Amino acid sequence: MTVSENPFSQAALNEAIDHELVDGVLARKLRPLAKTITLIESQREDHKLRARAVLEALLPHTGKAIRVGISGVPGVGKSTFIECLGMYLIEQGMRVAVLAVDPSSSVSGGSILGDKTRMEHLSQNPAAYIRPSPSACSLGGVAEKTRETMLVCEAAGYDVIIVETVGVGQSETAVAGMTDIFCLLQLPNAGDDLQAIKKGIMEIADLIVINKADIDPAAAMRAKSQIKTALHMLRPMSQNWTVPVITLSALKREGVAEFWEQVVRYRDTLSRSGEFEAKRRHQALAWMWDMIDAGLRSRFRSHPRVKGELPQLASAVEQGATTPSAAALRLLGYLN
Ligand code: GDP
Repeated sequence: MTVSENPFSQAALNEAIDHELVDGVLARKLRPLAKTITLIESQREDHKLRARAVLEALLPHTGKAIRVGISGVPGVGKSTFIECLGMYLIEQGMRVAVLAVDPSSSVSGGSILGDKTRMEHLSQNPAAYIRPSPSACSLGGVAEKTRETMLVCEAAGYDVIIVETVGVGQSETAVAGMTDIFCLLQLPNAGDDLQAIKKGIMEIADLIVINKADIDPAAAMRAKSQIKTALHMLRPMSQNWTVPVITLSALKREGVAEFWEQVVRYRDTLSRSGEFEAKRRHQALAWMWDMIDAGLRSRFRSHPRVKGELPQLASAVEQGATTPSAAALRLLGYLN
């Protein structure tokens, strides 16, 4: 078999490496960085191969950044917060990349999250790189491309990668699965915390931030103690980490230093216990399985016999003419 016949072989990858892009990313140049990310986001098969090759070459240079997930409902203040957090980190001498996971962007055609106009100062700062959400047909697709983009940004020497997502649907789980610390922004309203619990989001938060504390500091303190009480009912993800609840004002830039102290404390505490690296290893394996699942599904759906018989079998299942398991087994049998 020649190289071009098997696009998954090591030889094919070696052949497809674009050294100019790899060297450019490692030299922290913006154009090669943007071009690499565009390649990653492309749906074209030849682009996909080139993207994989560049990523493999960059992989040894990844992993040094701290990956921070930020979530919260629209209007909670995510972009205001990321803008002031980013500027704070840059003042501390760090370089910051902001990515977004917004599955709705493929529906709306444009991305709401990661929009540069929402982070006016940060987007103009040379130590920051802001990339809106990739558009893809599924959340899985968006998440995969964002994970890969994150690695490219790490290879380009960004010290902190912020991944923003909106507080709806499954996107939080996807972002929590690709970041080291997942932070949930809340409004200082009573009852808000209960909604987050219901949706299962609070369980995956490593840090909870009550924003807009400037509006009504007393209400923010009340919300803080309510959330703390609610957190006691949840099973802690680590014996070594009690999820902190902090109040903050992104608008007034108050509480940002404390936020960052907590992030660093999280990294240091979990690094000492080995959980930090274990979480990354676990995330890498989960990612591999996501890819296998997606790959098998796509091969299954594009199999000619499956394609031919699926419509009839699906309607037979709907009408009760055959059982779901019989139909599934018959279709799966074609993959052998
Ligand atoms: P996002 O949709 O979560 O990104 O929210 P934005 O960052 O766009 O903020 C929504 C609105 O809340 C804007 O008008 C902000 O100026 C305002 N806002 C954000 N943070 C604060 C804050 O800490 N205090 C106050 N009073 N307003 C804030």
